[in-house]
Amino acid sequence: MFYNSTRNSNVKVNSAEAITQGISAEGGLFVPESIPELSLEEIRTVGNMKYSDRAAFVFSKYLTDFTDAELHYCTDNAYSVKNFETESIAEIAHLFDGTYMLELWHGPTCAFKDMALQILPYFLTTSAKKIKLDKKIVILVATSGDTGKAALEGFRDVEGTSILVFYPEDGVSPMQKRQMQTQEGENVGVCAIKGNFDDCQNGVKAIFTDNDVKKRLNNAGFMFSSANSINWGRLVPQIVYYISSYAELVKDEEIELGDKINIVVPTGNFGNILAAYYAKHMGVPVNKLICASNVNNVLTDFINTGIYDRNRQFYATVSPSMDILISSNLERLLYLMTDKNDGIINEWFGRLSSEGRYEVTEDVKAKLRDEFWAGCCNDEETKAAIHRVYEKYSYTCDTHTAVAVKVYEEYRNATGDNTKTIIASTASPYKFSAAVLEALEGNSSDMDEYTKVDRIAELSDIPVPEALADLKNKPQRFSDAIDKADQKQYVLSTLGI
Ligand SMILES: *Cc1c(COP(=O)(O)O)cnc(C)c1O
Repeated sequence: MFYNSTRNSNVKVNSAEAITQGISAEGGLFVPESIPELSLEEIRTVGNMKYSDRAAFVFSKYLTDFTDAELHYCTDNAYSVKNFETESIAEIAHLFDGTYMLELWHGPTCAFKDMALQILPYFLTTSAKKIKLDKKIVILVATSGDTGKAALEGFRDVEGTSILVFYPEDGVSPMQKRQMQTQEGENVGVCAIKGNFDDCQNGVKAIFTDNDVKKRLNNAGFMFSSANSINWGRLVPQIVYYISSYAELVKDEEIELGDKINIVVPTGNFGNILAAYYAKHMGVPVNKLICASNVNNVLTDFINTGIYDRNRQFYATVSPSMDILISSNLERLLYLMTDKNDGIINEWFGRLSSEGRYEVTEDVKAKLRDEFWAGCCNDEETKAAIHRVYEKYSYTCDTHTAVAVKVYEEYRNATGDNTKTIIASTASPYKFSAAVLEALEGNSSDMDEYTKVDRIAELSDIPVPEALADLKNKPQRFSDAIDKADQKQYVLSTLGI
């Protein structure tokens, strides 16, 4: 399997190169040349394997330059009970008749990003070895909360790597800040920036492309790499759990092999739902992919009209991991839907950066309508959905998952479609305890974070994840907070170069 770039179809690299480079030199994203197909029987057999073997099986179709031993080294290390609270790794909760919650948050940081960030370090170090890059990999991350912590946990004490995370001093939740400040590991660093998320992100981008920094890094035997969701190594692990959950439902006799299902995904950067699209085109029988957004509903409008327009107000919501106006992974979908037309992708994404807007062709609009259904909801509706699910099904979901629930209800009302449905549940309710507790009890409270967590535990049946319960007692290791102008110097001195 080779990988092309969405902005230059002539680029052709293997997976180890795609994963270490992260993004193609001309700015495009790496996309596999073709989508490998699985027969229904193959999908059925996936259900008989343990999760790490399911993953290795799917990866063997995409990372064909990896040996079996290399794939199993990666999957056995990433998907074990050392890191996940449940043996099944991706747990399925039967919510109500024909609706299933695919709980992707039993990893070390209680959000679905662990599913990919637990394995990415192994992909990266294995890839680097394969292409004989004998440099130490330095991961720089700018985070608005979830990605930073998941990347820290993934890369902690992974040989041959070190990681440095920047977050906006006042831009993350108290729980997220505490998670990062108490991070363990010998190869990790965490620093607050006196500014907002854009300041963090711009700083990191500038350091990535700074020639002086590059030269010094190179001389010292280091190289930068990226852990954000444009890396193919973060997307491919997400395909696994859609195939795996379908096979699981067949095994449990909830559906018959070949039956179609719907998949609902609370969406921000379009990574998770794109993985579901790949699973569908590999052979998982899918009826509709339902794209759920919060009030930052740029994707709802896009799927419904074919016009992508980021010229709109940005809202901070109770589902902050979906507060995004530029969904990077959409570029991969459009490349596929235009039959790899790199010219038109360059045109559209050039327009996106110059005018903030582009409109796709009639042909692509029809494909979008055929594959997807899109909806959005506001914070009040999100909290009402948490309350409703709790009252009706004694199930407590987080704010992001609640957006998916609400949009799914809307879909059913609009279409009358009763197809069995998987809802991607992307975070533990404890991670967004303020809004969740407010939703459950119907009023806000001024308890501290830990008291809120305890109160949610009283109300719901869900045990507090150990990783969050432990936070209270963990010593704070990181307290640096710097001006954005000092970010480059901070990186250099942390690396000692
Ligand atoms: C990142 C994130 C999302 C959005 O996922 P994308 O792949 O960016 O669409 C949804 N929910 C939670 C909890 C997240 O952390």
